[in-house]
Amino acid sequence: MNENISPHSSSSSFVPIEEHHIQDAIQVINEAKEFNPNLLDYITKSTPSASNDKKYHVISVFGSQSTGKSTLLNRLFNTNFDVMDETRRQQTTKGIWMAYAPTVSNTKHLKSQNENIFVMDVEGTDGRERGEDQDFERKAALFALSTSEILIINVWETQIGLYQGANMGLLKTVFEVNLTLFGKAKLNKSNNHKVLLLFVIRDHIGVTPKENLASTVTQDLINMWDNLNKPNELSHMKFEDFFDISFHTLGHKVLQPENFANDVQLLGDRVINKDNAEYLFKPQYHHEIPIDGWTLYAENCWDQIDNNKDLDLPTQQILVAKFKCDEILSNVYEEFLLKFNEQHLIKIPKLNEKLTDDIDYEDLGLSFIDLKNDVLENFDVSASRYNQSIYEQKRITLIGKLNDKFKEIFEAYAQYLLGNTIKLFTNVLNSGKRNLPGKNFQDGVVSLSNKYTQEYSKALKFLSLGGELDTTGYEDKLNKQVEELISKQQLIELNNTINKSVKKVNNGLVKAITFELGDLKDDTWDTILNKFNQLTKEVLSKYESSTDEYDFGLGTSDKLNNLAIESFKFKSWVNFYDSIHKYILKDGLINILQDRFDDKFRYDDNGLPKLYENSTELESSFEKAKKFSLQILPILTRAKLSNGKDIKPEYDIFNKHLKQKYTTINETEQVQASYTDSEDEDEEISSDSFSIIVNEEEKQLVLNKFKREVDAKFVETKRSIIQHVTQ
Ligand code: GDP
Ligand code: MG
Repeated sequence: MNENISPHSSSSSFVPIEEHHIQDAIQVINEAKEFNPNLLDYITKSTPSASNDKKYHVISVFGSQSTGKSTLLNRLFNTNFDVMDETRRQQTTKGIWMAYAPTVSNTKHLKSQNENIFVMDVEGTDGRERGEDQDFERKAALFALSTSEILIINVWETQIGLYQGANMGLLKTVFEVNLTLFGKAKLNKSNNHKVLLLFVIRDHIGVTPKENLASTVTQDLINMWDNLNKPNELSHMKFEDFFDISFHTLGHKVLQPENFANDVQLLGDRVINKDNAEYLFKPQYHHEIPIDGWTLYAENCWDQIDNNKDLDLPTQQILVAKFKCDEILSNVYEEFLLKFNEQHLIKIPKLNEKLTDDIDYEDLGLSFIDLKNDVLENFDVSASRYNQSIYEQKRITLIGKLNDKFKEIFEAYAQYLLGNTIKLFTNVLNSGKRNLPGKNFQDGVVSLSNKYTQEYSKALKFLSLGGELDTTGYEDKLNKQVEELISKQQLIELNNTINKSVKKVNNGLVKAITFELGDLKDDTWDTILNKFNQLTKEVLSKYESSTDEYDFGLGTSDKLNNLAIESFKFKSWVNFYDSIHKYILKDGLINILQDRFDDKFRYDDNGLPKLYENSTELESSFEKAKKFSLQILPILTRAKLSNGKDIKPEYDIFNKHLKQKYTTINETEQVQASYTDSEDEDEEISSDSFSIIVNEEEKQLVLNKFKREVDAKFVETKRSIIQHVTQ
């Protein structure tokens, strides 16, 4: 023997029969008519390459006791069903038995082409003549019909044509029951399932040719079929709608042992050789149930047969498919959960734990998809062999379950990403305009928010199982929060801009006021007002845009911009008022008057101290100085222009509602302000409130004080003249 070829190698087609391990048969249904729960285990062990799925065949045998059924099966399929031993008269155990055929005998000694063949043998009793156990025989035959592709009907040549002897009586009953059980399913046009009835004619001496025997049997069957009691709706059904028939003859085992052996091998050829003209298996004999579902199917069939229920095969197949697909689904899902928990749960960082994360979302998303595909692949391998629509239905269920699980983790990441993105975005916003990209706030904020929302969307897309999980909810959430942050920051920036501008105007104005106060003239207020107008105009022109509106480069609305401009003007006027009062209070006023008085009274035109030599000179100078000083009193007490008109601010700066409206710009108070505008009338303040710096009463007090002080100076000076004169 060639050493390179192992006798057990599956690649070899010539494995001697003796080398195959012959497995003991297993009892499928026992004497008590119970189904064996260990059958699946037997089948699984017999067919370790489970991927063979639907590549298996079930053959059963049917016939009178001691007609050599078991002998034939053992010789043909190399099984070891109990055979009655003539010498010991050993009684075989009643029931339905099954055995895995390790190989099939054939003329070419070919291995059985990897087809998994299961053989069922029915052991009855010899008591049929006594009418004892026809029930079991009948049920066994029905069971064989509903689960097998081929039913071997074993008959002696000598019995052919004899009604009783050739099992014909039982066959008739079986046909009848078969019709009531499976007939309805046949009404469905797409149901083309058939069973092959293989008549094996035993002890064929060879005198009558096989063809003649076959036509006798066929004729008998057709007659029997025609005389069956058929339910009305099935009366049109023909024998060949349910069955194919085929024949095989075997020589006499005792008288022609060589012929017998050869005929068995010829039958084996018909079982395994697809090229054989008389090859037995046709696709429509198969029940289209994967091998791992067959036992469940068989058990259901037995249950219904034993309980004399209507046996609805297609429904049985669907039930098996549902059960099996569910089982496969929960198995793959369990496996998935283990992997899922192992790979993903612990990795989500705590929210805002750090601002930059090093998670590769593309990688992570791909691992989600990989895991999901693996699970689906596992499911497909096992479940796709079952009824297609059930399989597809369950696949959708599985996808839903997987997506739900991934959704949990997706949501956790989405939540985390949302929080992180917002925090990052807020940080950049808060760190000041300078840290924004682009030339102004609006540009910067737009490109920044685009950058962040794009990154966020990208990460979510990666995690979305190729778009199967909906990301829009989270995107909307982010957009909303970003928008809120931006509008909040816009207001802050807008207020800052306004306040800076107001300060700028005020600085300029204060300079002008202090300068003008040093050299008061009739048109002092004209000069100051002009300066104010010029300063505000400079600011306004900075924000004027080509469209006649104002634009701060913040992306704020026209309405808000206009409000900001108003606020700027309003605040500038308030500052104008405050500055005047700061520099010209009644206490300050008295100093100004006194300084002015002193300037004239104590110093001459060259700035030298004056010495008075007589009272007349003193009195005249005193009156002059007093007049000179009081000359500016109207200018300092009232902001009046040289044309005699008071300076009137553009806004009623004393209106507390306006004050509130313009102090800090925010969107809500605009609305509030709009209705408070109309109820101001009762607190109307006179239109000259702005221009009055010191009121009449205060003015009188100032005057009195001034007079007292200058009078004192006058007296003091006069006294010094008298002393000087008298010395
Ligand atoms: P089963 O009850 O139908 O399974 O029959 P067995 O296989 O147990 O065989 C019953 C008896 O018939 C045994 O003694 C066999 O030796 C004998 N026998 C088996 N096959 C043949 C056959 O082809 N011709 C004859 N004449 N006897 C056979
Ligand atoms: Mg037997």
